[in-house]
Amino acid sequence: MDKIDRALLADLESRIPHGKVRTRFAPSPTGYMHIGNLRTAIYTYLISKSQGGTFILRIEDTDQTRFVEGATEVIYRSLKRAGLRHDEGPDVGGPVGPYIQSERKGVYGDYARLLVERGAAYFCFCDKSEHNDEDAPQKHECSCPDLSREEIEARLAAGEPYAIRQKMPREGSTTFTDAVFGEITVENKELEDQILLKRDGLPTYNFANVIDDHLMGITHVVRGTEYLSSAPKYNLLYQAFGWDVPTYVHCSPVMRDAQHKMSKRNGDPSYEDLLNEGYLSDAIVNYVALLGWSPGGEQEIYSLDELTKIFNIGGLSKSPAIFDKAKLSFINSEYIKKLTPDEFLAEAEPYIRQAVKNPALDPALIAPLLQQRCEVLSEIPEKLTFFDELPEYSPELYVHKKMKTTVESSLETLKDLRPIIEKVEIWDAEHIHAALFAYIEKKELKNGFVLWPLRTALSGEPVSPGGGVELCHILGKEESLRRIDKGIELLSK
Ligand code: GLU
Repeated sequence: MDKIDRALLADLESRIPHGKVRTRFAPSPTGYMHIGNLRTAIYTYLISKSQGGTFILRIEDTDQTRFVEGATEVIYRSLKRAGLRHDEGPDVGGPVGPYIQSERKGVYGDYARLLVERGAAYFCFCDKSEHNDEDAPQKHECSCPDLSREEIEARLAAGEPYAIRQKMPREGSTTFTDAVFGEITVENKELEDQILLKRDGLPTYNFANVIDDHLMGITHVVRGTEYLSSAPKYNLLYQAFGWDVPTYVHCSPVMRDAQHKMSKRNGDPSYEDLLNEGYLSDAIVNYVALLGWSPGGEQEIYSLDELTKIFNIGGLSKSPAIFDKAKLSFINSEYIKKLTPDEFLAEAEPYIRQAVKNPALDPALIAPLLQQRCEVLSEIPEKLTFFDELPEYSPELYVHKKMKTTVESSLETLKDLRPIIEKVEIWDAEHIHAALFAYIEKKELKNGFVLWPLRTALSGEPVSPGGGVELCHILGKEESLRRIDKGIELLSK
């Protein structure tokens, strides 16, 4: 039989950490973080952190045909932004590295040959074109498992290329337990003799994940339900090696609607797309954590720290969860409201500057008008276009039933306000407010009767963030007077 480097295996085994909860997030570098992936990452993190355990990042890049430039960076960036700090991984190191699968190539062949030695796998010399695809549509059957030892030795000695396949029991059944789905039993005859090691010497995903999870001391394997049907095969591998089987935690999919899984390819947003749309990372993490996991009770707003304290595997749901953007927006608005003014300014400023290019207009004055009024940051620019340029508008905007304003009353108000505003010397909200309210009180008018026309003249919009005082302050005296004059002109026609 081909050689096995037993010293290497003994060394790898001696490094396995024991006695602590260890979970791993094992994404393939696809170039973006699916919402379903993000959720798996969150649960993987929470399962370990709720137990004081270790959270590991492993990059699963064995499928080199799917290589995407910069994709690993996206994973690092996304985890960091989501606050899911890993204790071990390619970028931070750790005791059981390397943490990038393609850098672990050296270990899989020896383990595959060990399985052959134990009778749980066999050399398969079948032609590459026929049988080298782990997703082969038909079940693989060939005579390779029945070859005599001599024949195998001879073909290996002749340098004939081979794959190594798992030898499934033909009878009986395999039972495994999943923390979410309970006990699952499959008939062994349903199981395919899957390829473990390809003819190029590289492992299939189905083999590498078992070896890596074992060597990294992973106690809980958290992954999507698309892997549920492979779990019995993994179980048989653990058993053949005599290794402890980790706790399986299969997470139900995140759906766009009742029929469709969320998918970036079909236009559903990734985590970074949502960030770019103006959702706050903490809000996304909060919302996504509750998609398929429930703490029970009514509370919906949880920080990652709070989730870490209360998370339990028992709250994971078997049912697929539907991603509801309206709900995410609601949660996002709650997070926006909770930011300090400075934090909000930092988040909002780029969006404010998309609409407000005039450097004289201060985002720090504009931001407070928005914080209680937006669900998603990307709504901001459209609310602010009037700052740079007063739009054309109809005199009808001045007519407001509740404020009891008419075209005539508004004209009169603006004419009265113009000199009052012109006389304000210290240009801040307090002094502008004092001047306007002195007028309102003196004339014994209702606030809205005066402020509505002012707001309208300053914005030219049916709704604006902020009222007359704030808009005057932000626009500055000169521009405010210019807009009031425009209003007067429009109303005088
Ligand atoms: N690399 C696999 C994926 O991205 C991970 C599956 C697993 O966690 O084992 O789907």
